[in-house]
Amino acid sequence: DDGGLIVSFGEMLIDFVPTVSGVSLAEAPGFLKAPGGAPANVAIAVSRLGGKSAFVGKLGDDEFGHMLAGILKENGVSGNGICFDQGARTALAFVTLKSDGDREFMFYRNPSADMLLTPDELNLELIRSAKVFHYGSISLIVEPCRSAHLKAMEVAKDAGALLSYDPNLRLPLWPSAKEAREQIMSIWDKAEVIKVSDNELEFLTGSDKIDDESAMSLWHPNLKLLLVTLGDKGCNYYTKHFHGTVGAFQVKAVDTTGAGDSFVGALLTKIVDDQSVLEDEGKLKEILRYACACGAITTTKKGAIPALPTVPELDVFLNA
Ligand code: ADP
Repeated sequence: DDGGLIVSFGEMLIDFVPTVSGVSLAEAPGFLKAPGGAPANVAIAVSRLGGKSAFVGKLGDDEFGHMLAGILKENGVSGNGICFDQGARTALAFVTLKSDGDREFMFYRNPSADMLLTPDELNLELIRSAKVFHYGSISLIVEPCRSAHLKAMEVAKDAGALLSYDPNLRLPLWPSAKEAREQIMSIWDKAEVIKVSDNELEFLTGSDKIDDESAMSLWHPNLKLLLVTLGDKGCNYYTKHFHGTVGAFQVKAVDTTGAGDSFVGALLTKIVDDQSVLEDEGKLKEILRYACACGAITTTKKGAIPALPTVPELDVFLNA
């Protein structure tokens, strides 16, 4: 299968997840060491679903960095866009699970290696070969990775890639909410596919309404598809021509980490070779149903990457 390449740009890190739900970090009896980072999750989601995938980002030249590079490789993700920082360490996150499966984050970033990627270190040849270029999360926050992020987007766009954005707002990482909003909005009108969560929609509009009007207030002329994910209520979709809702699958969620990334990975895998589906509501709804199934499966297991579905797993789920 010679599908188009999906390149995901950003950070990869280790999530330390308590082995018991509903406890604070200090009370956790132990941790499960789970690889994660939103763009890396998307890269692996794509590959597990049979898509052609590459990750662009920087890791520490340490035990964790090499472990993460190995996980990408094992999962069939091209590592040609990875580089290693000789000084800084790989980022770490401590993820507290609340009893409802929702999560809270604490980070080690001091700064971590991912924040030190420079524009000169980008593998431009790889980025130019992308059919879809996906980005998001925290590479916007500080230099030099902000400049690397902006350059990578521009190079991908000039080479004809579809730009896909997921802000992945983690407020504690930004100096202030105001700065987070400004930075996210500074690249907002470049992306052609944007996925936000219901919380991000509230944050970006400054309103507590999750309705069509508030979603459409974020619309911009380059946008082809805007998605608002609603957790166990599925997602709302908006295009120039139509909008609607796709319901979620009912599952017993134990950890929602990675559900949104799984959803995005599935969506991108389905549109990379045929963007005309974005103009066909019936086909788009089918694709979003598939993406919702991937999101739902991901909530049924702890961690992000370990919970991303494979095609056989998805077939079993959809035919159950
Ligand atoms: P994010 O991780 O960005 O906050 P969501 O948690 O909304 O995104 O999850 C993305 C998608 O995964 C949802 O649109 C939904 O289809 C699916 N999903 C998430 N949580 C659940 C859940 N508890 N039950 C069923 N499906 C879910």
